[in-house]
Amino acid sequence: MSDLLDLSLAEASDKLRSREISATELTEAYIAAMAETVDLNCYITETPEKAREMAAASDARLAKGEGGAMEGIPIGMKDLFCTEGTLTTAASHILDGFVPPYESTVSGNLWDAGAVLLGKTNLDEFAMGSANITSYYGAVRNPWTRQSEPDTELVPGGSSGGSAGAVAARAALAATGTDTGGSIRQPASLTGLVGMKPTYGRCSRWGIVAFASSLDQAGPLTRTVRDSAIMLGVMAGHDPKDSTSVDTPVPDYGAALTGDIRGLKVGIPREYRIDGMPEEIEALWAQGVDWLKQAGAEIVDISLPHTKYALPAYYIVAPAEASSNLARYDGVRYGLRIDGETLDEMYANTRGEGFGDEVQRRVMIGTYVLSAGYYDAYYLQAQKVRTRISEDFRNAWDSCDVLLTPATPSAAFGVHEKFNDPIQMYLNDVFTVTGNLAGLPGISVPAGLDKDGLPLGLQILGRAFDEETVLKTAAVLEEASGFSALPALRAGRG
Ligand code: GLN
Repeated sequence: MSDLLDLSLAEASDKLRSREISATELTEAYIAAMAETVDLNCYITETPEKAREMAAASDARLAKGEGGAMEGIPIGMKDLFCTEGTLTTAASHILDGFVPPYESTVSGNLWDAGAVLLGKTNLDEFAMGSANITSYYGAVRNPWTRQSEPDTELVPGGSSGGSAGAVAARAALAATGTDTGGSIRQPASLTGLVGMKPTYGRCSRWGIVAFASSLDQAGPLTRTVRDSAIMLGVMAGHDPKDSTSVDTPVPDYGAALTGDIRGLKVGIPREYRIDGMPEEIEALWAQGVDWLKQAGAEIVDISLPHTKYALPAYYIVAPAEASSNLARYDGVRYGLRIDGETLDEMYANTRGEGFGDEVQRRVMIGTYVLSAGYYDAYYLQAQKVRTRISEDFRNAWDSCDVLLTPATPSAAFGVHEKFNDPIQMYLNDVFTVTGNLAGLPGISVPAGLDKDGLPLGLQILGRAFDEETVLKTAAVLEEASGFSALPALRAGRG
């Protein structure tokens, strides 16, 4: 049983195709693992019956020598993707009982390629957060714990924390995430996984509950870079239903993993050396530089001068778009309704009860920065900063092909450690938001452990639509780091 759970997506695919294992067997192992790890709260809705049906259908296709790139692979689906006939909550009370009559394009692509749905994974409410503690369905626990205080419950990062927790705990072979300011890369870093945010426009956003439409992108959370390449290839593609999805061919990402980065120019942005950055993160970053140098890359010192404005700009643009996107939850069209004397009172009651504190904070900030008197001072200014940040990257690409940075400013933290300080929480995204503001692809790769035995990631950022170079470089880092540690829970599961 445990052997089945330890297979990577690529390995499982090979064994499924050679009929050494069946999709049903693999799926049963994961259904059992979901039950065993239920106290981590990784899933909002488990769909074991659907999983069994889908696995049986995969086995029938495999028996005929047919099947797609994800045939028989049991995955978790972030509960932000609409799934036809399966409850979709966005981890919000306001979507109570919402069963979409349609399928998101990305999840549909995965089912078409043969993937098996294990369930809908937990997240921060409407994907707003960096710790997966704002979910109406409760916080997700990281399967990793500190060696020094094994009883302290740690966060898995957010907002795709249920997806990350599930893959790290071996309760899903892979999972989808969405990344608006770091929500794939940040939880990947905190759980020892590979998390890939592709270029804005690479994956369709159709059918994904919208947070900030100019920033949101879907991507995979996996255990290896090769798995990331396989899954991204299936998720990506032009979609006429999303006017921001780009009509450009999806390359064979697996073929990009040549292991050869000789002559590649890797930029090290000096502005990412932030005040108070833990020494361990500095050391890991330096180690990453060394690994890439040894593999034949050329290291270049780079400046991205507007980096320090990225977080403030993000926390204006993202709430502005969120306040507009979330206007549709009015107690009439979806989910929850709390009645009132008048229509306005019904709206207010529904939104007051239906949205949690963090979502209400974002709606208020967003409404404020878009209001007549403040639009120019905040929103417009933030958009200008965004343009500058994109220009910084464009200039950097004159002298390098990818950038290497830390993925997160710290390892996983305690569930209660940053809870009451939103600003402290927002700082988690310091290395990731720039990639969203500029629309660029980025990946977090597990690179080492901190002094307490917790995983830390390094990030590779690349040119728009050059996921191939990003993945290739990430695979070299992965190989060099030889990261193979497992969370105590899994190590102890035998
Ligand atoms: N932590 C960031 C936020 O709360 C990013 C979240 C995300 O990428 N979905 O806005």
